[in-house]
Amino acid sequence: MQNYGLNYWGKEDFIIEEGLVKVNTGNKPSLLDLVLDMREQGFKGPLLLRFPHLISKQVHKLFSMFSHAISQYHYSGAFKAVFPLKVNHMPNFVHALVEISAKFKGAYGLEAGSKAELILAMAYIHDNAPVTVNGFKDKEMIELGFIAASMGADITLTIEGLSELKSIIEVALENNTIGENVKFCPKIGIRVRLHSSGVGVWAKSTGIHAKFGLASTELLEAMHLLETHGLLGQLTMIHFHIGSQISDITPLKKALKEAGNIYAELRKMGAFNLNSINIGGGLAIEYSQHKHQCERNYTLEEFAGDVVFLLKEIVKNKKELEPNIFIESGRFISATHAVLVAPVLELFSQDYDESTLRLKKSNPPLVAEMEDLYHNINSKNAIEYLHDSLDHMESLFTLFDLGYIDLQDRSNAEVLGHLIIKKAIGFLRHKDHNDIIRIQEQVQERYLLNCSFFQSLPDYWGLRQGFPVMPLHKLEEEPTRSASLWDITCDSDGEISFDKDKPLFLHDVDVRQEDYFLGFFLVGAYQEVLGMHHNLFTHPTECSVQITDEGYELTDITQAQTILDALEDLDYDTKEIERILKQKIEDSELLEDSEDKKEMLGRLYVMLSENGYLRTLAMQE
Ligand SMILES: *Cc1c(COP(=O)(O)O)cnc(C)c1O
Repeated sequence: MQNYGLNYWGKEDFIIEEGLVKVNTGNKPSLLDLVLDMREQGFKGPLLLRFPHLISKQVHKLFSMFSHAISQYHYSGAFKAVFPLKVNHMPNFVHALVEISAKFKGAYGLEAGSKAELILAMAYIHDNAPVTVNGFKDKEMIELGFIAASMGADITLTIEGLSELKSIIEVALENNTIGENVKFCPKIGIRVRLHSSGVGVWAKSTGIHAKFGLASTELLEAMHLLETHGLLGQLTMIHFHIGSQISDITPLKKALKEAGNIYAELRKMGAFNLNSINIGGGLAIEYSQHKHQCERNYTLEEFAGDVVFLLKEIVKNKKELEPNIFIESGRFISATHAVLVAPVLELFSQDYDESTLRLKKSNPPLVAEMEDLYHNINSKNAIEYLHDSLDHMESLFTLFDLGYIDLQDRSNAEVLGHLIIKKAIGFLRHKDHNDIIRIQEQVQERYLLNCSFFQSLPDYWGLRQGFPVMPLHKLEEEPTRSASLWDITCDSDGEISFDKDKPLFLHDVDVRQEDYFLGFFLVGAYQEVLGMHHNLFTHPTECSVQITDEGYELTDITQAQTILDALEDLDYDTKEIERILKQKIEDSELLEDSEDKKEMLGRLYVMLSENGYLRTLAMQE
């Protein structure tokens, strides 16, 4: 049975039982049941399923791996984490996360990189959980930080450059939050510009030419500025971030050595409250469905162990305090919790059945030969006959271009070609796999999915980041078709093509007779927030799945935006659009009586109040 690499990327979050993908907790509901439940409630398009228990699982994993390393090395610093809101700022995710973080009693907070994110963090942070602020800041954003501090938030503004520090000092002087009033002043962190470079697609975060951070000379200047303005006591944190999806741990170790030594040096220079190192994000997720393509070469235990051990060594040599360790993992925390479910609308070759074959009394010789191949193909000659028929089909296309055969002949060639492919695959399914792989690229089936890759898998479009994909059901049957996936945008980039290095096989289903659903997994990090309204497709309808002992509950159902709402987001005057459409129907001379007009208007209003995804293909109604 094919398991689509679930053992590499699934980490026991999901399992396959009785041919179904099931959630591996509670009484293990199948994803198919959840989808059918939503469809019964009228949600027919693509769906985003959220599993809050998987957010919780990742947060617990993160904390337990570090607490293990901390006790193993008798480390005296604490471990804290913040979730970077830029990775997923959707309300149903953030609310679930904040609820989970309450269990960590002030050790799990939020990271903000913009004013809007900071407002979210200020509103939803609870107890004394930390808030860190990265990214470029203007004076207003810094003032927001002061407001948060006066609310009692444990907030750290990480400065990315000296000018930000100068703004902080300015605001502190203006608000008179120096000296006795320093409790109204946020803590200050410094992002250091490391000379060691980052890794992977997202490597631009460090190095001499990095976008962010202070180099050594600037560090010295910062110390001087803090000291002269009586704010040295506010400096508590050193920060770096070497990039996302760190595949190899070596660059992180280099960065840690650099940052650890900077930490110790600044303390020696008098930064008496400097007590934390923030190692940024970057902890990777395994997306690969194939063993030879695995993306992460370290275990979580190694990661935590290396961080704790290295920091311990560095400060021991410099006889300094063991720093608290902050981490800003986003991808690791959020990726696993969301699954995109896309209904398959069509298999492109489905239209080619025998009934569409209209052979003439006398056919061109190559068509006649293809007919022969079709009738006489068997398990022994399948590969040879398949190759012959593909060659014939090519030749017939050329003959058509040259004007030697007509459209009917060409259609017959196409139909026969597809029929032979299907028959050959049937004969070959239990045979030597290498032979089949070789021909798969030529005989692939195209699956049309009711979703937008631009909206729901933007990193595939932008960076060719692969996401695990598999059918949610029929897993007891062997999938026979090599597959390429097409979304419903009318953009040819909306395609995940068949790749023989990581082949995807799907089932040969007649979607006119039965539903077929594909799940894209690990889409909870970055995809929702980067997704774009290409072709005006919006976020799909989503729901949270709360697994209980007895079963499950679907909560927080949030419908995909209606067509009018999507247009309103673009600042179209939707009232005007409605008015114009209404007028056009009223003025139409084709619609004679007012009853007809009223009915037409009613039909139009229904469409405007629905989302833009397809409900079915027209032919399936
Ligand atoms: C994006 C970002 C993160 C999150 O990185 P992940 O790879 O998602 O863990 C953390 N810190 C900073 C400063 C970032 O810019």
